[in-house]
Amino acid sequence: MSSVVVVGAGLGGLATAARLAAAGHDVEVYERADVVGGKLGLVERDGFTFDTGPSLLTLPGLLEDLFTTTGGPAGPAGLAVEPVDPACDYTFADGTRLTLPHDPAAVPAAFDAAFGAGAGAAWSRLHARSRHLWELVGEQVLRRPLTLPALLRMSASPSGLRAVAPWRTIRGLARRAFADPRMRTWLERYATYSGSDPRRTPAVLSVTSFVEQEFGAWYVPGGLRRIVDTLAERCRTLGVAVHLSSPVQEVLVESGRVVGVRVAGQERRADAVVCNADAAVLHEQLLARGTASRARRRLRRIPPSSAGFVLLLGLSGREAPAAHRVFFPADYAAEFDAVFGRRPRPVEDPTVYVHAPDDPALRPDDDSEGWFVLVNAPVHDPARGVDWDAPGLREAYADRILDVLAARGVDVRPRLRFVEVLTPADLERRTGSPGGAIYGTASHGPRAALKRPSNAGPLPGLHLVGGSAHPGGGIPLVLMSAEIVAGLIGPATAGPAGPAATAAPVGTPQGSSDGSPRRAAPAPPAPAPPTSSGTSSPSSTPVPAPPAGPRPPAPGGRRR
Ligand SMILES: Cc1cc2nc3c(=O)[nH]c(=O)nc-3n(C[C@H](O)[C@H](O)[C@H](O)COP(=O)(O)OP(=O)(O)OC[C@H]3O[C@@H](n4cnc5c(N)ncnc54)[C@H](O)[C@@H]3O)c2cc1C
Repeated sequence: MSSVVVVGAGLGGLATAARLAAAGHDVEVYERADVVGGKLGLVERDGFTFDTGPSLLTLPGLLEDLFTTTGGPAGPAGLAVEPVDPACDYTFADGTRLTLPHDPAAVPAAFDAAFGAGAGAAWSRLHARSRHLWELVGEQVLRRPLTLPALLRMSASPSGLRAVAPWRTIRGLARRAFADPRMRTWLERYATYSGSDPRRTPAVLSVTSFVEQEFGAWYVPGGLRRIVDTLAERCRTLGVAVHLSSPVQEVLVESGRVVGVRVAGQERRADAVVCNADAAVLHEQLLARGTASRARRRLRRIPPSSAGFVLLLGLSGREAPAAHRVFFPADYAAEFDAVFGRRPRPVEDPTVYVHAPDDPALRPDDDSEGWFVLVNAPVHDPARGVDWDAPGLREAYADRILDVLAARGVDVRPRLRFVEVLTPADLERRTGSPGGAIYGTASHGPRAALKRPSNAGPLPGLHLVGGSAHPGGGIPLVLMSAEIVAGLIGPATAGPAGPAATAAPVGTPQGSSDGSPRRAAPAPPAPAPPTSSGTSSPSSTPVPAPPAGPRPPAPGGRRR
């Protein structure tokens, strides 16, 4: 058995911890906050429960694979997922509506209905092209450590090179694929799935659109926060000790090798350290000056991803609209000028995204509903950009967004019971992500994938997992990143444990219910029949165990 310290209990940290514990390692997780989950946050108020992070789940097969590989189905309560149908309802500035169904076979008709005959065929051509792209990058690039030779191999065939087209941006692709400006806007929005500007984001990242339509949009009844709660439970079952309120102060390096971390002034030595904190935090705060300087310099040259300004609305009455809605502005480019331009500023007339899950577990009664409203925003940067803590800004901008929504036909102001506001500065305080950037760095330029920090860290014994590292942010990619890191570290070797700890664990141990220190990983629990959670609808699909033993996951998840 070897000892591993994980810095951060976000999705990436917990998923890596579970995988490594199941592979026989002795794993400890140190988390600065007093809760696990990082960006998969939760706010409860007056009987309402809100996810403050992700609302859209894609590729649920990756979650299934994680739980299967680490011991079986996701606990006695289960972790059900259910399809979201329609997947998304878009309203364009001229009032046109596009309602995309969950079933890809029905998507062309939806495009025809919204934009006229021929629109569906144009989408189908794009989808076929993206399928090829997904076959090229899904397994080879996203689920493996990124190397230049791998990228070169992929681009070596003329058809591969044509599909990847590293010189083309998402905006360029949208112009080639669609004549209708509204359809271009629709495709360009997928750049924001990596917190980036479509005018600078490589076209290859449009595979997110393929993934969403081909494999569908999914929801976890009870809220997506349940993913990290269930995963933390799995970690505990596997003997992982999760220490809350325990910020790692330093990653320790001796003779060029990472040998542990410093927490609460004490050394905790380990054979390997996995950093789930943002890569910028690692380089600017946790590694001593003079260590990994090249990687630090490289990272400094990449701009941060976008952040988000969030409203949590407690509403009287229940309309149960489409779960996911997007309201586009007339001038989409102006949004990216405001977020990524020389003079960052709150977006005057932003695209507004609304998540309104029709989930009885999240509302106080059936005559109310809670909405999560998100607009793209520049990061919190009081020195050179927007100071989201400036007096009055959060209130004024929250009002502005409610006005924008009203102007686009959805006036909820008379129904408001309360508004909770989360700014980029709040996200920074909650999760430590610099400026509240949601996805680490922006994916700008043809070499964006290569510039993103790799999972094998810049020093031996150090690994990076999570949204700021390869392959990127968002639940599916973070799960892939955990799988890659666990693969790089490999199974524990038989023999004596690694270097002994020089300090007792600090913070709140969660490794066992009685608070005792961590124990060796037990045998994985025997698979039990899949059960769905109490809050799931009849159409919910539990994340099940396979009939016997782990199986290699399908890259794209699968339709249910
Ligand atoms: C508003 C919003 C909406 C989103 N919507 C979606 C969506 O719809 N679909 C989707 O797939 N994804 C979405 N995402 C992205 C997704 O939430 C993230 O990509 C993912 O949760 C990142 O997980 P992570 O483990 O990489 O990082 P994090 O969640 O940031 O976890 C990092 C952890 O490290 C801890 N940490 C930092 N520094 C230290 C330290 N020094 N010592 C100890 N611990 C430390 C932090 O406190 C944190 O808990 C959204 C995110 C946000 C914020």
